[in-house]
Amino acid sequence: IALREPPKIQRLEESVVNRIAAGEVIQRPVSAVKELVENSLDADSTSINVVVKDGGLKLIQVSDDGHGIRCEDLPILCERHTTSKLTNYEDLFSLSSMGFRGEALASMTYVAHVTVTTITKGQIHGYRVSYRDGVMENEPKACAAVKGTQIMVENLFYNMIARRKTLQNSADDYGKIVDLLSRMAIHHNKVSFSCRKHGAVKADVHSVVSSSRLDSIRSVYGVSVAKNLMKVEASSCESSGCNFDMDGFISNSNYVAKKIILVLFINDRLVECSALKRAIEIVYAATLPKASKPFVYMSINLPRDHVDINIHPTKKEVSLLNQEIIIEMIQSEVELKLRNANDTRTFQEQK
Ligand code: ADP
Ligand code: MG
Repeated sequence: IALREPPKIQRLEESVVNRIAAGEVIQRPVSAVKELVENSLDADSTSINVVVKDGGLKLIQVSDDGHGIRCEDLPILCERHTTSKLTNYEDLFSLSSMGFRGEALASMTYVAHVTVTTITKGQIHGYRVSYRDGVMENEPKACAAVKGTQIMVENLFYNMIARRKTLQNSADDYGKIVDLLSRMAIHHNKVSFSCRKHGAVKADVHSVVSSSRLDSIRSVYGVSVAKNLMKVEASSCESSGCNFDMDGFISNSNYVAKKIILVLFINDRLVECSALKRAIEIVYAATLPKASKPFVYMSINLPRDHVDINIHPTKKEVSLLNQEIIIEMIQSEVELKLRNANDTRTFQEQK
């Protein structure tokens, strides 16, 4: 067979590169919301309010009361790889912020229209400026502003026709956004969150600052969830080969649901871990077959240099040192808790 001529290798145009990269970071409206809310948390906000129109395709607006952005930083705010959080590669392993690569805002400007309004402490007015493809569309305009930053993302994926079409056909992105903010709200219980549809009077997530985690779970997920939860804790020290502590809440045998809810934070970062999820499902199926779809909130803390946060474009997965051991220890703690609760119950029923 005659081989065809090798196709010529060409350098992609920068705008194409940026749009492709942006499509990976911002996979759907909820990914934009997550990045914006994490920026607000990084800015020490105590109140974060989200407004969404058309499942986020028309508008995502996140307003916070954080430290704001300096006027002189606005020209490079939405360029790729501009950040106030990281300087050296090594900083990745000592970082306490959610962000680190200066990709989120830039990505949004490659696939949407972004407008930022911000004011810093001590200023009498704020600034508003719009961005497209990484650059400012105009000089920042002075404007009235209260405190913090408001970011508006409009017409998401206007230049990615296939993405827009698939998303328009699935009506569930608003649900995903509500779910995200509910999860954020119970972990960050010193921050108040709200989320509403554009034009709606009633918020679909509305959390108030609370002193106890259980209170915040109750206010977000409702009494019926909160009343059926038990506290779990586990920890281990360096001598056992791994070093972590975990605390959380797991549902008891009275909690019955169609789907497992695992709200997992690792070093304060909302992540997914399918191995841990499976481990918990197995324990519930074996111990409480009738309540085998639990509600679980878990916060795991590890030394920062035991977690690699840079393995997924949306940061939704992280990789842990000693992951198997940690999961096994958590699994046996959950099992113990469920068995004890079960025994107490049987005992009470016999009385
Ligand atoms: P990263 O969070 O990785 O630094 P982003 O693109 O998300 O990158 O944000 C770029 C920079 O913009 C941040 O480092 C931060 O300094 C600033 N910033 C973004 N959002 C906010 C906000 N809500 N309040 C204050 N500063 C912000
Ligand atoms: Mg960020």
